[in-house]
Amino acid sequence: MKEISCKLLVIGAGPGGYVCAIRAGQLGVDTVIVEAGKPGGTCLNVGCIPSKALIHAAEEFEKVSHMAGGKSPLGISVSAPALDLGKTVAWKDSIVSRLNSGVAGLLKKAGVKTVHGWATFRDGKTVEVETETGSQVIRAETIVIATGSAPVELPFLPFGGPVISSTEALALSEVPGKLAVVGGGYIGLELGMAFAKMGAEVTVVEALPRVLAQYDAELTRPVVKRLAALGIDVMTGAKAKGLSTQGQAGKGDALLVETADGKNAKLSADRILVTVGRKPVSEGWGLDQIDLDMSGKFIRIDDQCRTSMRGIFAIGDVTGEPMLAHRAMAQGEMVAEIVAGHKRNWDKRAIPAVCFTDPELVTVGLSPEEAKAAQGEIKVGLFPFAANGRAMTKLGEDGFVRVVARADNHLVLGIQAVGQGVSELSAAFGLALEMGARLEDIAGTIHAHPTQGEGFEEAALKALGHALHI
Ligand code: FAD
Repeated sequence: MKEISCKLLVIGAGPGGYVCAIRAGQLGVDTVIVEAGKPGGTCLNVGCIPSKALIHAAEEFEKVSHMAGGKSPLGISVSAPALDLGKTVAWKDSIVSRLNSGVAGLLKKAGVKTVHGWATFRDGKTVEVETETGSQVIRAETIVIATGSAPVELPFLPFGGPVISSTEALALSEVPGKLAVVGGGYIGLELGMAFAKMGAEVTVVEALPRVLAQYDAELTRPVVKRLAALGIDVMTGAKAKGLSTQGQAGKGDALLVETADGKNAKLSADRILVTVGRKPVSEGWGLDQIDLDMSGKFIRIDDQCRTSMRGIFAIGDVTGEPMLAHRAMAQGEMVAEIVAGHKRNWDKRAIPAVCFTDPELVTVGLSPEEAKAAQGEIKVGLFPFAANGRAMTKLGEDGFVRVVARADNHLVLGIQAVGQGVSELSAAFGLALEMGARLEDIAGTIHAHPTQGEGFEEAALKALGHALHI
């Protein structure tokens, strides 16, 4: 059995793990990373990047279909478009594969050794990796667990056949005629809307009274409106119960649903996409060999991502919410610097979250309700895109920017936006919070015209009581 030693061993090359390894390598730390699959983890292979590729293709297809239907107010008409999902998926795969090579190259450039295979702890300093050519033992002074997360499977709707997770949904070669989406969170709605734009008849089954329930109703209203406009049937307060292979009118499979009023319904569906959350990958790698404290199903960490065991850190989805790629990356970068001897700790005040539905949602910091509960008196400024010239020229008037600040000193506590393309505003929102901006700082920043960013300035002005364009 081969044996190697290193200062830092990272398990998992998702955005958390690979960023940690690259930064450690840059800082001269002798680093090894182990990955069972392809570099980039969930995010690059079956998450952020492929889903955004599919969403973009769906948006383009819908735009052209709209024009072909003679409904475009832009005066453009085209003949009916066709979609070859197989080609779309091949294009998406080519982006993923370019980025896979990019991550592998960056690891190499930083002097990181990559070992391909599944890692299992033997003890707190030793890991065994099952590689294609046999077992390899790696001893390390410090180990970072970055094993990520996987889709939650419902016991009464196990994955297989027509029941798919987001992973399979991103690799379909044909648009399903009828798609049932179980779970109206961000992954379900992003994919559900994309397939509806590509021509699927989509039904969303959500157990809670609202979709995107983690956001306030004011923020999600434009998305709910758009779901209806796309013809997506949203069943809230409804519980998926199982699969019937009899189907309606002999059309194959059907999803059994208990509706909000307690009745049983059968939804015929070619595919049933289950997006009811993600669970940490905390099994199969020897968690029982090392005595780590857990926080529920996640690994408990402190504000430096240290676990309860000396010399072992954990980062990313395996440590809990928010399960976001950029949080994992920021944790990875911080841990690498700590291992290299820098003084760092974690301030999670400013982690933007983007939901790539249509329209998009961005949040950073506290919502008005959270801010009120935490700070008492607050000021809220909301600027609608209906009063923003750039949004009008993009047919994106539905939505707004909302700024939440302390009433006494105007310190910005949270920023939210919903609207076409607002994901790109997340950088400005995050910066404002990170820098401890006050309403006057945002209102006094000259924003280029005509851009949707002007809505940010105007929302701050509105909170100060003197918006200019509303
Ligand atoms: P992961 O990316 O899950 O990577 C963990 C890696 O560890 C995997 O490659 C796995 O193979 C490897 N591994 C696990 N155990 C072992 C072992 N024992 N030995 C060797 N290797 C191992 N987040 C966003 O911020 N923005 C988005 O737009 C977004 N969209 C998403 C869309 C979808 C459809 C999905 C599913 C997720 C999306 N996410 C998004 C979430 C994002 O993908 C995760 O938050 C992110 O990938 C977590 O990174 P991580 O490094 O913690 O783990």
